[in-house]
Amino acid sequence: MCDKKSIYIHIPFCVKKCVYCDFYSKTDLFLIPGYINSLQKEIKARSDLKDKINTIYFGGGTPSVLPVKKIELLLQTIDASFSVSRKVEVTLEVNPGTVDLDYLMELKKVGINRLSIGIQSFNDDKLRFLKRIHTADQAIKTVENAEKAGFDNISLDLIYGLPFETKALWLKDLSTAVSMSPTHLSCYMLTLEPGTPLDEKVKKGLIAPLAPSTLSTLFKKTSRFLSEFKFEQYEISNFSKGVQTRSKHNSAYWDMISYYGFGAAAHSFDKNSRSWNHSSINKYIKDMDSGRLPVEGRETLTREQEMLEMILLRLRTLDGLDLEKFSTLFCVCFENQFKDILEQVIGGSMGFIKGNRFALTLEGRARLNGIVEAFAEKIL
Ligand code: SF4
Repeated sequence: MCDKKSIYIHIPFCVKKCVYCDFYSKTDLFLIPGYINSLQKEIKARSDLKDKINTIYFGGGTPSVLPVKKIELLLQTIDASFSVSRKVEVTLEVNPGTVDLDYLMELKKVGINRLSIGIQSFNDDKLRFLKRIHTADQAIKTVENAEKAGFDNISLDLIYGLPFETKALWLKDLSTAVSMSPTHLSCYMLTLEPGTPLDEKVKKGLIAPLAPSTLSTLFKKTSRFLSEFKFEQYEISNFSKGVQTRSKHNSAYWDMISYYGFGAAAHSFDKNSRSWNHSSINKYIKDMDSGRLPVEGRETLTREQEMLEMILLRLRTLDGLDLEKFSTLFCVCFENQFKDILEQVIGGSMGFIKGNRFALTLEGRARLNGIVEAFAEKIL
């Protein structure tokens, strides 16, 4: 019997660092050939033909800085090392400013069937503020080229909540995105990650972030606006036109399906244990050259951590938490165990139980952190 799994491949290279980003990525593009070589070694070393791979995701960093031949090589290595489903979803993150029509056509030929395009905004002021390498015109051109290349499963990434964001600016971005008829949208609220240049500026008082209440209003506005265009908020930051075009890869994370993470800084998850690779391209290459797996750490989740993780991940989703599954897995009745929290959440119109599921309303999702904290206090 095959185990269903996903594969994430981290491509830690970017042309330039964006001001808000804390993902592990470097601008040393000359390391790409050695890195790909090491990635192939890691995939082969962890090969298991019993594992059926349903989704493959190239994330970063900027995977679209890779030559298509290298992407093809990685896909061939995965194919030879695992049982890849015939219906596998293969996503590649693409940054406008790094690709043209020919590149996208080649990607399609080697088996990429879903694109996640890092648009972030169609407004040049916003793009400049974020220190993105592309312009609004390039963003539009990239979406047009993706369609011309034959991609019919396209997701656009957008960011909102910049210090000078207004409702009008954000709705303009959303309207432009919707007018391009993507099948999927990811709308992320700008967060201040410690150690990033943006965070430093805020700490020095050079930039004032938006008030939490304004961010909350924008969050709710996003959901309401997109629902008018039949986009369903199936996860807190993700919107799709129907179940078919939900991201299968990200949905697997929220379903706690096991996944392999290959590459520097990549995380893997197997049933109830997690491991993560070193966040250093050089160390990663050195380890693979010496035949060592580049693992920096591992942890096995306790029953309590697993419980909380499931609540946290499932409450992000429209489908919510499956109460029967929860009870079977943890041998506790969810409704009895968390009676007081449920009374507050449901009483405050922030959540509901329907059939076997507990899910949050839009108001509840806007207060997700507080709700999860309440569960954490009770469980841990
Ligand atoms: S392109 Fe993406 S990964 Fe690279 S620095 Fe910008 S936000 Fe980070």
